[in-house]
Amino acid sequence: MNIRLFKPSLTELELKYVREAFERAWIGLGPKVSEFEQKWSEWLGVKISIGLNSATAALHLALRVFGFPKGKKVLVPSMTFSATASAVLYNDLVPVFVDSDPITLGMSIEDLDRKYDKDCVAVIPVHYCGHPVAMEKLIPWAKERNLKVIEDCAHTTGSIYQGKPLGTWGDIGCFSFEEKKCMTTGDGGMIVSNDPELLKDVKAMRWVGIDKDNWKTAQEYTAMNKDAYHWFYELKVLGWKYNMNDLAASIGLAQLERLPEMNKRRSEIIKKYLEGIKDLETIKPLLPYEPDKYVYQMFVIRAERKEDLIIYLKSKGIATGCHYTPLTMQPLFKPYLSYCPVAEDEYFKIITLPLHVDLKNEEIEYIIHNLREFDNE
Ligand SMILES: *Cc1c(COP(=O)(O)O)cnc(C)c1O
Repeated sequence: MNIRLFKPSLTELELKYVREAFERAWIGLGPKVSEFEQKWSEWLGVKISIGLNSATAALHLALRVFGFPKGKKVLVPSMTFSATASAVLYNDLVPVFVDSDPITLGMSIEDLDRKYDKDCVAVIPVHYCGHPVAMEKLIPWAKERNLKVIEDCAHTTGSIYQGKPLGTWGDIGCFSFEEKKCMTTGDGGMIVSNDPELLKDVKAMRWVGIDKDNWKTAQEYTAMNKDAYHWFYELKVLGWKYNMNDLAASIGLAQLERLPEMNKRRSEIIKKYLEGIKDLETIKPLLPYEPDKYVYQMFVIRAERKEDLIIYLKSKGIATGCHYTPLTMQPLFKPYLSYCPVAEDEYFKIITLPLHVDLKNEEIEYIIHNLREFDNE
């Protein structure tokens, strides 16, 4: 047995769409990116979506569009991936680390309130593992303090929380299509908003400052008209090289078609795990998983003997991970030290188990069997 922790689910459909992009011989920023953005907006129920090369880029630009003065503070969870807080540093802002809620391990609203001060300008909740942050509390709390809300949706793709899709609660939502996430484009991301004005410069910001549909322009290069300025563009904003390309978007279009079926499979797997470990003594699910309601990118357990269990599972060919080392424990973020005891205690117990759409039932049973054996020792 050799069971991977994460694995993208790729079929003939992805290959077919990629082949079409090959045949078109347009594989950079092009019409497929627009089509994917359009379909993503319709599917999520959001006014504007812009395709990027990662969620890291989405988080960077999400903060950038507000033009916050240098040195202002942004509230971010400690229990998250580096990108959530690095995006704050990219913008010359200061991350303020917030502890986790002890039940959901999402941002604690109580600790948010403790860490807030007048220099804070924004908050970035992360729906950790896919479990929703209590947005019905966070949004009014943030509004009262005039804070912008950017949702990091890298762990969830398609959850509806209290009647509203995750990613549309805040001012801006950021999604990841990195290969470990709920759906993938290899690498990729999407920035979304219900306020198109807010994202008006993002198309230029993602593509070296040029706000033009270059595949349309390319057709005009040879169109018979009297316009000699088809090549003209003006640079008005600083841009990065953050665009999605047509190869990635082609994969994304296929993954989006398959997403309901893929999300269903994720839920099935989580239900099997929950059932299989429900009576164990030393191993418990980390979160109050609700696989019938929400989409989860990760299945994490809390284990009393973390290191022994990791080594035991290794010996059985079962890959594990640890998501995450809280950012307050990372050398890079030492200058922004902040008291986050819940997240830092969990670090010594959490183990991420394999969760991906192509996991076979016998593999899940094999993992559960080994968890039970270890618990029995
Ligand atoms: C993966 C991840 C990101 C970054 O996504 P990329 O698309 O790889 O840049 C950001 N935030 C969280 C919480 C993540 O897990």
